[in-house]
Amino acid sequence: MHIAIISDVHSNLDALESVLRDIKRRGLNRILFLGDAVGYGPDPNNCVSLLKRECEVLLAGNHDRAVTGMTEIEYFNEFARAAILWTVETLTEENKRFLAALPASKVFQTKTGDIFLVHSTPKEPELWHYLLTLRDAEINFNYFNQRICLIGHSHVPFVIERDLSGDMTVYKDRTVLKDGLRYIINVGSVGQPRDGDPRACYAIMDINSITFVRVDYNIKSTQKKMAAAGLPEPLIKRLEYGT
Ligand code: ZN
Repeated sequence: MHIAIISDVHSNLDALESVLRDIKRRGLNRILFLGDAVGYGPDPNNCVSLLKRECEVLLAGNHDRAVTGMTEIEYFNEFARAAILWTVETLTEENKRFLAALPASKVFQTKTGDIFLVHSTPKEPELWHYLLTLRDAEINFNYFNQRICLIGHSHVPFVIERDLSGDMTVYKDRTVLKDGLRYIINVGSVGQPRDGDPRACYAIMDINSITFVRVDYNIKSTQKKMAAAGLPEPLIKRLEYGT
């Protein structure tokens, strides 16, 4: 089992293409996508088409729901909201229908056990809470039965390991997945990283480890397209800082 897991592409085609090249170069051909194909960036239609073609499983994120009118947009900050409104104008009807039909969570079957996939939290997949603290993790471990849960949404990669006594440990790097222990793993963001590293982020999982991979992409090209589309300046700037 060697699976690539990507999330939070956010219409960033340059980042997505670079990540897919990296995945193929490693000979991996199974890709799971944890949601937020669109929002923020300049290439929503190309990103949806490419994800649709390349990914074995696709989930919806809050931005995907917002552009299809399935979640309120008042909850987004002004810049995110402006990008959502631009995306609504830009997306084809076919791509909107495709996004609208995606599930918010899914159980993914593997030969070595099922994995729970969700964009935000196992507890309330469609309320779009962030799972950020150990307290959040402690609660959410009760809302999936599988050994491993993979998430996105906060754009910050991490591994939270829970041992048999309930004690939790956080890892930020490659982690060996120990027999019998349970895990919540955030795979980071392809199109808008927020952990201070501007490179695109994704994860590779094999039978007993998870590895985060960082990939350089043409940030300047994405920024140029965003400016040409009239997308908000702070969204353009943050890409070069990874914040
Ligand atoms: Zn996101």
